[in-house]
Amino acid sequence: MPTKSAHLTIDDSASNQMDLRVLELARRGIQAVWFCRGDHLAARPAAGIHALHAGQILGNHSWDHPKFSTLTLDQARDQIDRTDALLDSIHRKAGVERKIKLFRFPYEDRIGSAEHHGALQEFLRSRGFVLPDIEGVEHQGFLQHVAENDVSLFWTYDTEDWTLPSPDSPDAGRKLASVLERMERDDPQAGCGLARTGREVVIMHDHDHTAGLWQVVLQGLLSRGLQFVPLV
Ligand SMILES: [Zn+2]
Repeated sequence: MPTKSAHLTIDDSASNQMDLRVLELARRGIQAVWFCRGDHLAARPAAGIHALHAGQILGNHSWDHPKFSTLTLDQARDQIDRTDALLDSIHRKAGVERKIKLFRFPYEDRIGSAEHHGALQEFLRSRGFVLPDIEGVEHQGFLQHVAENDVSLFWTYDTEDWTLPSPDSPDAGRKLASVLERMERDDPQAGCGLARTGREVVIMHDHDHTAGLWQVVLQGLLSRGLQFVPLV
């Protein structure tokens, strides 16, 4: 099995499973970027602090996960600033330096009007958000975002773990098999290309209801030769 390097990103934290998932990553020596919703993190600040103590990175994923194209600029800025103030406070309480400020739009809904998009990107930069320099990516969609000087961190491979039901659902086995089978497909521009060359930026989701299925998806990625390396 050939190996290739990848970065792990996890959206919608903090769930009631986050502590367990952080421990699983720590056990394997994996650092991920956890893009947190402010409302979820406010409900579980201890999970964020635990993650920071385990060497994980916390990113900003808005306050309550709206579609940004439906917001006014003031509403959009408020979504970002409110969550950012909470992230600053979590870092202070953890006694961990905030090394980098990363942002991801909910649903990757970042467009709106050209004016709205440009103003938001400028706002993110003014608040210190950056797109990290990730070498070796070949995924065309990802490179297009980089070429557009977009601050929001896109991904090259969506595990589609968000399609999974709870483990006790009658559909769980079939849906899980589908998520794992998708990793074998070779359609890189559609986000299905783990067998190809090029660094991957993988997206998973930190949802309550998927519980232990999450670990099976992670194992699926590792067994296909992905070696997760720190982003910062
Ligand atoms: Zn999300």
